[in-house]
Amino acid sequence: MASRTITIPRLLHVGPDCLSDLAPLLSEHFDISRVCVGSGPGPSREFASTVEHGLTRAGARVVGESGLIGRLDQAAELAARTIAEEVTLLIGIGGGRVIDTVKLAAARTGTDFISVPTTISHDGISSPVASLTYEGRLRSSYAAAMPAGIIVDVSVIALAPPRTLRAGAGDLLSNLLAIQDWQLADRRGEDDFDAFSAMIAETAARPLLNITDLHTPASHELLAKGLLLSGLAMAAAGTSRPCSGAEHLVSHSLDEALGKRAALHGEQVALGCLLSAAAHESPLLGELKTLYGRLGLPSHPADLGISMGELTKAVLRAPSTRPERYTVLTELLDGDGRQLAEVLGEAFGQRFTAPGSPLRRSPAASISSTSPGAR
Ligand SMILES: [Zn+2]
Repeated sequence: MASRTITIPRLLHVGPDCLSDLAPLLSEHFDISRVCVGSGPGPSREFASTVEHGLTRAGARVVGESGLIGRLDQAAELAARTIAEEVTLLIGIGGGRVIDTVKLAAARTGTDFISVPTTISHDGISSPVASLTYEGRLRSSYAAAMPAGIIVDVSVIALAPPRTLRAGAGDLLSNLLAIQDWQLADRRGEDDFDAFSAMIAETAARPLLNITDLHTPASHELLAKGLLLSGLAMAAAGTSRPCSGAEHLVSHSLDEALGKRAALHGEQVALGCLLSAAAHESPLLGELKTLYGRLGLPSHPADLGISMGELTKAVLRAPSTRPERYTVLTELLDGDGRQLAEVLGEAFGQRFTAPGSPLRRSPAASISSTSPGAR
């Protein structure tokens, strides 16, 4: 096989209190003569303003674009503005929605893009994909480009709601299960496993298993770097495979079913990881449960306001959210309802094994007859 080329950011900076003085960092690598700073409707606006003042002080011409909430039309509008105003550098400051909006505008106009996440709740902060909504429909993924630079101010990350950190941990841990799904798909002849990108994804996630407290600067840095490496693993693989398996399908399915009641992506993925670990009969299940207890990650659907019945339905529909992705769910749902019920029991501590009783009445059992169609 010929060697491959991976685009990686030219600039990576992870450190405290850096937003007010980005000009020296940026001007070393980029043309900052005309900068557009994109932010969201919430607290990210204030951080954007700090960045804008610093850049203006350094002599850059700066324009701001606030209120970005992850809509495709906003990305198109921003792309038009980038062209019309001859913007040389786009900066996205905020959560995933802001970053994805600016990322797509940058990719489609060929403009350098700097990702400045204010929360680290998922691995989209460094991926070449933008997930946006169009005309009120569910989010879709659009091909974008890797950010040319990534700046993580860990002091800002520390101010974000604690659940964003837990979600980030969930999204990072999913690499460990996604890799098992990928290997399974490879064994079944349904995909080609790539050991190199899987190694990056695993190396990014493993250190998280030893964390005792999510609220220390060292943990924030570990989490940020792990999520950044996940983006790199996906870029190396040319697919989200190293970081997205059955647990992600469950989360996508929950998004569809719950609408506005859906929890954060990484929180739902964390739940999906338990299910996937149980389905793989992986020793990781015990490790994850202990870790979740220590860090406060959701270890039962009820922790996210989701009923067991809702979760079960979402699991049954999960493979249909991405039919081409072969995972452990593909095989689990081929079995009888009892198998799924047992896995749910293993994952979430509920037992459905008594013959003729809870299994017969459980949502898993009653819906299982439709599972082939759901696949
Ligand atoms: Zn994810």
